[in-house]
Amino acid sequence: MIVLKFGGTSLADAARLRAAAAIVVAQPAPRAVVVSAAGGVTNLLLEAAYAAASPPPPSTQGTSSGVSPVPGGGASIAAKIRDRHLAIAAGIPDAAERSGALAELDQLHAALDDALAAVAAAGELSKRDLDRIVATGEKASSVLLAATLRASGTPAAHLFADRVIATDDRFGAARPDRTRTRVQAEALVRPLLQSGLTVVLTGFIGGAPDGSTTTLGRGGSDYSATLLGAALDAEEVQIWTDVPGVLSADPRRVDDARVVPHVSYDEAQELAHFGAKVLHPRTIRPAVARGIPVRILSTFAPEEPGTLVTRESGGEGVKAVTALPDLLLLAIDVPELEDLAAASAAVFGALHAERIEIVAASQSSSRRRMTVLVDAAAHGGCAHVRPLLGTAMDAADVEAEVGCTEPVALVAAVGQAAAAQPAALARLLDVLGRANVPVLSASQQTSNVALTAAVPAAHAERAVRALHDALIRPQPATARGRRPRRTELLAETIRVG
Ligand code: ADP
Ligand code: ASP
Ligand code: MG
Repeated sequence: MIVLKFGGTSLADAARLRAAAAIVVAQPAPRAVVVSAAGGVTNLLLEAAYAAASPPPPSTQGTSSGVSPVPGGGASIAAKIRDRHLAIAAGIPDAAERSGALAELDQLHAALDDALAAVAAAGELSKRDLDRIVATGEKASSVLLAATLRASGTPAAHLFADRVIATDDRFGAARPDRTRTRVQAEALVRPLLQSGLTVVLTGFIGGAPDGSTTTLGRGGSDYSATLLGAALDAEEVQIWTDVPGVLSADPRRVDDARVVPHVSYDEAQELAHFGAKVLHPRTIRPAVARGIPVRILSTFAPEEPGTLVTRESGGEGVKAVTALPDLLLLAIDVPELEDLAAASAAVFGALHAERIEIVAASQSSSRRRMTVLVDAAAHGGCAHVRPLLGTAMDAADVEAEVGCTEPVALVAAVGQAAAAQPAALARLLDVLGRANVPVLSASQQTSNVALTAAVPAAHAERAVRALHDALIRPQPATARGRRPRRTELLAETIRVG
């Protein structure tokens, strides 16, 4: 069986939804489909939830459209969300399917209104409430795509993944329980597939042990797709998005970024980890465990071969350049060598306690300076993190000086064979030096899949362009001449898998 995942842009309106349905139908059955919320809806849901928790002052409430401002400011945003979904439903080309979908959407919107009203009444927004509220977007998409498929003559059913993807109760960033997920997928999804239905599941969401809805983190629908693929032993997971594959750089930063036809699991993981938004950072892990090929494809050009991700790395050289923004660089100077172990335990302990993600860490050769690059965009930046570490050092009775630089970006050149070469880091530093990009720290990862450099955020874009120009080799003429057809690629996938 095949899992197909569609992102928000690919489900943004009725026409995109019909295009997605056509792509689904062209794949061999059995197939499960994972959907994101329609583009922009998750952000609107978040806005509605925050507005409900802290309504604007009375003078700014109310709108010219006459939308009731109660509860809080959330109601007018909820109305916008409803309008988006109803506009999509209006494009379902079958009256019975259309009215069936509208009835289900009514229930989802009523539940959303109730949840927002409860938040407004409580005057506070728990992470549990927030997850229940934001899940509405994916739930609506699943209803809409299943109805669109049935309207085009394909038997289909939708399923909310809070009953399938089992997670812990870390709301907002839930961790899946693969064993329970497998049991639930076998019990709920497999029978539907066996009865000949195309099953449309919500991405992004899971269910905590007590049954509450959780979410896997922003962009998490990619992760849902591979979790489900692993649970159902899929032959392939296809990530259908708005770019024709993994590109050699973010197309919004680099005009001549081009498709990378084949990357290894390791390379894809590094790319996602270091900022290639096209894949959620956790997406690859479930596929690795079962050797499932993952393909990244464009809903705007479905005949293009896209990018294939498998265990092997295809080709040599740097394949892509990425940048991870919004980081801060901590430099911890420890004058007494014997304090170093305690200082490092205090730093890592304090960051872990605050759930601040460590992106990279290193220790100088004199062993008296540690540098730690952390993702603290949502944690108050240096103003919060520096005193936090100061307190941790005091508690550990360690004398240390903590420096903090922000905003910092980590640029990475990713490619298995390239990063393994001894002079690769020197080349990267040379390119950055010629482009006048100051380097705060640099490393050749022990995994030898990525070369990285931390640079001041203001220089990130220039750094990415310079590295792309210098390190991504021109495409060989043979690869440019003829594109493999998708049927040949599927045969290749089956051999690999
Ligand atoms: P979806 O809604 O389908 O999940 P996303 O917006 O999450 O799509 O991811 C696709 C976007 O990722 C692209 O539109 C592109 O702007 C961005 N992107 C960043 N880096 C890369 C890269 N190296 N290759 C492809 N896309 C990238
Ligand atoms: N809709 C969610 C988000 O916007 C999940 C996803 O799109 O993958 O983050
Ligand atoms: Mg995405």
